[in-house]
Amino acid sequence: MASMHLPHLLADASFCAVIGHPIAHSKSPFIHRQFAEQVGLALQYERIDVHPDELPSALETLRAAGCRGLNVTLPHKAAVAALAVHPSARVAATGAANTLWWDDGLHADNTDGRGLVRDLTRWGCELAGRKVLMLGAGGAAAGVIPDLLAAGIAGLWIWNRTAARAAALCARFSPEKAQILAPVDDSGMPQAMDLVINATSAGVVGEVAVLPAGALAPQTACYDMFYADGATPFLSHCQALGARQCRDGLGMLVEQAAVSFERWHGYRPDTAPVLAALSARQ
Ligand code: NAP
Repeated sequence: MASMHLPHLLADASFCAVIGHPIAHSKSPFIHRQFAEQVGLALQYERIDVHPDELPSALETLRAAGCRGLNVTLPHKAAVAALAVHPSARVAATGAANTLWWDDGLHADNTDGRGLVRDLTRWGCELAGRKVLMLGAGGAAAGVIPDLLAAGIAGLWIWNRTAARAAALCARFSPEKAQILAPVDDSGMPQAMDLVINATSAGVVGEVAVLPAGALAPQTACYDMFYADGATPFLSHCQALGARQCRDGLGMLVEQAAVSFERWHGYRPDTAPVLAALSARQ
């Protein structure tokens, strides 16, 4: 294959990795190494930059090198879902994968939704019977919808800068769930949501996705999948509008990693100390 750099592999360690482009920012090695320490597992977990043109050959190289599990981040989540021989039901439903492993072919799962729901639960945010507004209609938004629906929310409204993408996302899930999914405009959404989730990438460039009028009340829980040192642009905006309960996506990052770790190694790690250690490093 072309230019993918495969690290020197230790003989007695389980080898896992995260691929993306770019990848230098990824916190996954820190998180997985902390999990491995908890259970005394010898783990070599690496960041590997993979250009989109090299994805199929990179996967083959990693499989041949004995890679036990692979996390996948932007921009490869949809491409690996399409390459999987055994996509999980979540991957089939969402068209995106973040967790891969091999046995009789390439398996793919998406752990983002379980990560989000676990982190919301840890935060004390009740989902059953709640009205939820999601901003964004990209891969992250799609990836968490099955788990939000399974948690028994009363309704999910999707708002996106490009309305057609929100409509397409609703249509994708509508066969069973049409009654609780609606792309919103200013007139079509109930006021004062219980939970607003920012699943846009606006924060990456320091921007704030527009909120529909009336979505926020002081008691609305505001969750940003994006995370940053200090308050994210979205959470700062929500606080300025009077929101009192705000949380960023660092906990989701740790929780989705824990689901991957358990799938590959058979141990469910304790996420609380890892989240605390990461927060202290921010
Ligand atoms: P994506 O597929 O590229 O989708 C980006 C979404 O953001 C689209 O809906 C896009 O709207 C919208 N958007 C981008 N810039 C915007 C702006 N300036 N104003 C309003 N909307 C804007 O990206 P993704 O994979 O879904 O990721 C979205 C975010 O989730 C990223 O910040 C990512 O880091 C985060 N994430 C976090 C975790 C975690 O574990 N915490 C996991 C996954 C993702 P259009 O359709 O109009 O372009």
